[in-house]
Amino acid sequence: MQYYSTRDMSCRVSAAEAILRGIAPDGGLFVPESFPQFSQQDISDMLHMTYPQLAAEVLSRWLTDYTKEELEGFCSEAYSAQRFESDNTAPLHMLSDSTAVLELFHGPTCAFKDFALQMLPRLLTAAARKCGENKKTAILVATSGDTGKAALMGFADVPGTCIGVFYPDGGTSDIQRLQMVTQSGENVAVFAVKGNFDDAQTGVKKIFGDADIARQLAEKGVRLSSANSINWGRLAPQIVYYFWAYVQLVRNNTVKMGDKINFCVPTGNFGNILAGFFAKKSGLPVGSLICASNSNNVLSDFLQTGVYDKNRPFMRTASPSMDILISSNLERLLFLLAGRSDAQCRAWMEQLRQSGRYDAGQLLSALHEEEFFGGWADDAQTAEEIARVFRETGYLCDTHTAVAVRVQRLHREKADDGRCTVVLSTASPFKFAPDILKALGQPAEGSEFDMLRRLSDVCGQSVPASLAQLETAKVRFDMVCRREEMAQAVCAWLEREAER
Ligand SMILES: *Cc1c(COP(=O)(O)O)cnc(C)c1O
Repeated sequence: MQYYSTRDMSCRVSAAEAILRGIAPDGGLFVPESFPQFSQQDISDMLHMTYPQLAAEVLSRWLTDYTKEELEGFCSEAYSAQRFESDNTAPLHMLSDSTAVLELFHGPTCAFKDFALQMLPRLLTAAARKCGENKKTAILVATSGDTGKAALMGFADVPGTCIGVFYPDGGTSDIQRLQMVTQSGENVAVFAVKGNFDDAQTGVKKIFGDADIARQLAEKGVRLSSANSINWGRLAPQIVYYFWAYVQLVRNNTVKMGDKINFCVPTGNFGNILAGFFAKKSGLPVGSLICASNSNNVLSDFLQTGVYDKNRPFMRTASPSMDILISSNLERLLFLLAGRSDAQCRAWMEQLRQSGRYDAGQLLSALHEEEFFGGWADDAQTAEEIARVFRETGYLCDTHTAVAVRVQRLHREKADDGRCTVVLSTASPFKFAPDILKALGQPAEGSEFDMLRRLSDVCGQSVPASLAQLETAKVRFDMVCRREEMAQAVCAWLEREAER
């Protein structure tokens, strides 16, 4: 299967090349030229598979230039019981007869990004081999909190790679920051940026687009790549757990094979929910895809009006990983729904760049037909939802998940289609202990680690070991740079990396 750019369909590459490049030379994103099809029989066959087996099966249809054996090897390493706490990499928790929570936070960094970022280094180093690339790959990441740590964990000490992470100074939770600045590994660097996530992301995109930097690095034998969710190698592994959720619902007799189910996804950069759309287009019986936003509700406005407008105040919320006003992956959906038109996609993206806004009202009927819905919740409503779910069911969800639980509940009150809905749970509540404690009416005082222990007492679960050990871990990175210093910081760091 070939991939092409959303902004220039004549730019065609293999999956390995799409993964190696991260972003197309024209600034577009790589999309598959078609959707592989899974029949009902294919999905029935998955009922007997483990997560790593199912992952290799799904991925092999998209990544056709990787062998099945290769993918099986990668998946069994990336999704091992040791890395994901148990044999069930993504357990399903039934909140009610018709609402399930898919727990995607049992990986090494306690957020769903691990699903993609445990695979990406494996896919990427194999891609370099396949493409005969012998340059060192330097990964640059802009993070709103969770991607940074997950990417650091994935790439630390992977030969032939190095990784630099930029996070907004003060824009992440304390635990998220500590997870990053204590990261071990010879080939890692972490920078705080004065600004918000969009500033960090824009800065990283600028570095990618800078021909001078690319030339300087090429001379040193280094090429840049991205671990942000614009990379196809991050999106593809996320398609897998939509199938896994479905299979688990069939196994526990909540749905019959062939019944449609809905998904509700706490959304920021639109990567996770887009993977759900890809699962749907390739034959998984999916009805609605409900996009849940926090107060940065640019996507829910878009899904209602067809107008994308990022000209609004940026809000810092209790669900920081969704604090995003430019959802990069939406570009892929626009391209696909506009009948795979690169010219149209280019025009919208140019308007976005120039005025921060575009009108894709012509897509409203297609969005409706594909059953995309949007909703949002502010911090007070999110806190209320955390408390309500805990009170009524004893289940504790994190701030991001709670946004989605609320959006799906209100959506169902308005339009109950009788289908089962799976809410994707993207982070462990322990990553956001202060806000969870406040939501539960508990004192949120003392150190971050006092709060982890208090939360553990309240909910009766133990603190994830990877978070507990941060209390005594050494801080390795304390550099803060201004936006306009990002390129310089990267160059200085890569200079040292090239010599290592
Ligand atoms: C990254 C992240 C999101 C948003 O996912 P997107 O793929 O960017 O839409 C939601 N919740 C958590 C906890 C995250 O880390």
